[in-house]
Amino acid sequence: MIPYARQSLDQADIDAVVGVLQSDWLTQGPTIERFERAMAERCEAGFAVAVCNATAALHIACLAAGLGPGDWLWTTPNTFLASANCGRYCGAEVDFVDIDPLTWNLDAAALAVKLERAEREGRLPKVLVAVAFSGQSCDMRRIAALAKRYGFTVIEDAAHAAGASYAGRPVGCGEFAAMTVFSFHPVKIITSAEGGMVMTNSPELAERLQRLRSHGMTRDPQQMTGPSHGPWYYEQVELGFNYRITDLQAALGLSQLNKLDEFIERRRELAARYERLLGYLPLTLPGAQPEAESSWHLYVVRLQLDQIGLTHREVFEGLRAVGVGVNLHYIPVHLQPYYRDLGFAEGDFPQAERYYAEAISLPLYPLLSDEQQDYVVEQMRQLIEIIQPLRRVGNV
Ligand SMILES: *Cc1c(COP(=O)(O)O)cnc(C)c1O
Repeated sequence: MIPYARQSLDQADIDAVVGVLQSDWLTQGPTIERFERAMAERCEAGFAVAVCNATAALHIACLAAGLGPGDWLWTTPNTFLASANCGRYCGAEVDFVDIDPLTWNLDAAALAVKLERAEREGRLPKVLVAVAFSGQSCDMRRIAALAKRYGFTVIEDAAHAAGASYAGRPVGCGEFAAMTVFSFHPVKIITSAEGGMVMTNSPELAERLQRLRSHGMTRDPQQMTGPSHGPWYYEQVELGFNYRITDLQAALGLSQLNKLDEFIERRRELAARYERLLGYLPLTLPGAQPEAESSWHLYVVRLQLDQIGLTHREVFEGLRAVGVGVNLHYIPVHLQPYYRDLGFAEGDFPQAERYYAEAISLPLYPLLSDEQQDYVVEQMRQLIEIIQPLRRVGNV
């Protein structure tokens, strides 16, 4: 089976991890800081706070933004559960903004309309989680302008978007979002096995994030409520967590970061090949967001089902049956039983639901060969182009 995603590891990655195993620090050591500094430099961000995964990163980013009970967090329904769950962890209410039918990202125009209504009803969001779906940023310029006007904090969920850029600058630089979150799960752009990071330009937010990742404790006299008792002394000044990443993971992440440009280049090449090879099939290909340069975490196509005749599920299963490990990103979050129990229902976000009925993620990762990609395309073609015209004739 050709998977939809997989990591690319080499000997340098392995050596980096072994190096840490032979050192004095398995966790809370110097490699974490090196990883943070390298990412901050790469993203042109002031600060980076590494944690055990992007879900934890989103959680503490929301807390640092002041999100709590009685507040609202808004995000897109076309995302992984974590982009919404982070609001629930803070005791906040979660709501969604429907997607743009071309980019499949949170629709900034729909956001503007919803904000206007929310203002009248006195329930403006405190946090917007803007997900860079598939590695392509949302219309961040417009979102940032709306954030300014309505006073909410933008957290960019860039779990898909390490190495992407927007408006000529790296995602994570903080020009359009107060905080940006990356994931280093193996299916993502670079991996630390498990890992996440929050980027910010605010020293106050960075300090808060560092505290929240480690029990809410501090050894910094400046942050203490009273005088230090001695060199051993630390204070817990708020409720935090153990969301630390290990030096083993940081070493892997740091080593992977050296290859980020190479990975992105290959992903872009493969995406351009898909576009060329799939263009004449009854498929809707991803639409481009002006100013965004995607990192191409995912290559999603939408089936033009009225021209295909097979169902969405039949195409999906047909591809899996011939060894093409397709996937589906995403089941609209508001249709999950947990969110239905909170009052959401089918029909709430029609663009995301229509998208879900047609979307398929094709294999895309740096080690995917041209030959493997050709095979994927040929299998798709055979399923939806060759068999189906016959069926259509039969149906007439
Ligand atoms: C993967 C992912 C996450 C969560 O990342 P983890 O590191 O696995 O916690 C959050 N948001 C999006 C959009 C993701 O794809």
